[in-house]
Amino acid sequence: MKKNILLIYTGGTIGMVRTEAGYAPRAGYLKSYLESLPAMQAAEMPHWELLELSPLLDSSNMTVLDWNRIGGIIKEHYDRFDGFVVLHGTDTMAYTASALSFSLENLDKPVILTGSQIPLFEVRNDGMDNLLTAIMIAAEGKVHEVALYFSDKLLRGNRSVKLNATGLYAFSSPNYPPLADIGTTIQYNEMIPAPVRHGDFRVQELKKIPIGIIKVFPGIQFELFEEIMSESLKGIVLEAFGAGNIPGSADAILPIVRKARENGTVLVICSQCLKGSVSLGTYETSAALKEAGAVCAYDMTTEAAVAKVYYLFSCGYDADTV
Ligand code: ASP
Repeated sequence: MKKNILLIYTGGTIGMVRTEAGYAPRAGYLKSYLESLPAMQAAEMPHWELLELSPLLDSSNMTVLDWNRIGGIIKEHYDRFDGFVVLHGTDTMAYTASALSFSLENLDKPVILTGSQIPLFEVRNDGMDNLLTAIMIAAEGKVHEVALYFSDKLLRGNRSVKLNATGLYAFSSPNYPPLADIGTTIQYNEMIPAPVRHGDFRVQELKKIPIGIIKVFPGIQFELFEEIMSESLKGIVLEAFGAGNIPGSADAILPIVRKARENGTVLVICSQCLKGSVSLGTYETSAALKEAGAVCAYDMTTEAAVAKVYYLFSCGYDADTV
């Protein structure tokens, strides 16, 4: 029997049209385009339906509320479909994939995000393969999690990063092996886990928690960030050097981190490096962070750390639990 796959178009290059102001999504266009494509009606394709977000968004304009809207659509159609393909802009796809990986609890169906660097309507495009392969992966049902498919790799959603602004191999998961390599056939990684469920599928609504990302650079004057770090933000993801090191160490940042902690702010330390892991306390230059109660993100991406802070505070945990 044919599988049922729901395509959710959120906006993004893959379904955009050319306008006087540049590429932009247009309501209704992608559905009629896909209906006219012979490949989308081929016998080996699953049964599919397409829903659009309204309004359609360039993913640069997305917020947590849009992550909730995507989650809401999946929830509403969860029982009727075997898998979901989220067609999304590439710019913030790794953030959305990370957020959904936390907010879709007890997921046991494939949710595959994809998009493209060149719109489908262009003769030369990368959207066609991304779309068709993502649909087939969703229909095969071998992954039971939020994943991202792009140009021959299926990646774990909350491990993915966009690392090329113009190239067609735009995504990678530097700290985690691909879930599948796609060539003439789809080769799934043997390590793909079975679904882990602790109850019924549910979607945790995410809240607009004030979160900031601060990237450390040589000569950073932490005192300039004191007010936002200790008063405005509830969660801060600090992108430190290498294994979690910062300049100036204790003198500059310790009092700020302490004050932030007292005010219920969580400081998470990620690395600016795409590979490897944070290890607080290995060097003197990270010891102060550890002492002051900063949270080590180990090998998480910044995107995943941001999404997880949103998720944990949205669940209602206090700063200590987070
Ligand atoms: N700005 C676009 C977006 O993220 C880029 C893309 O889709 O590739 O929506």
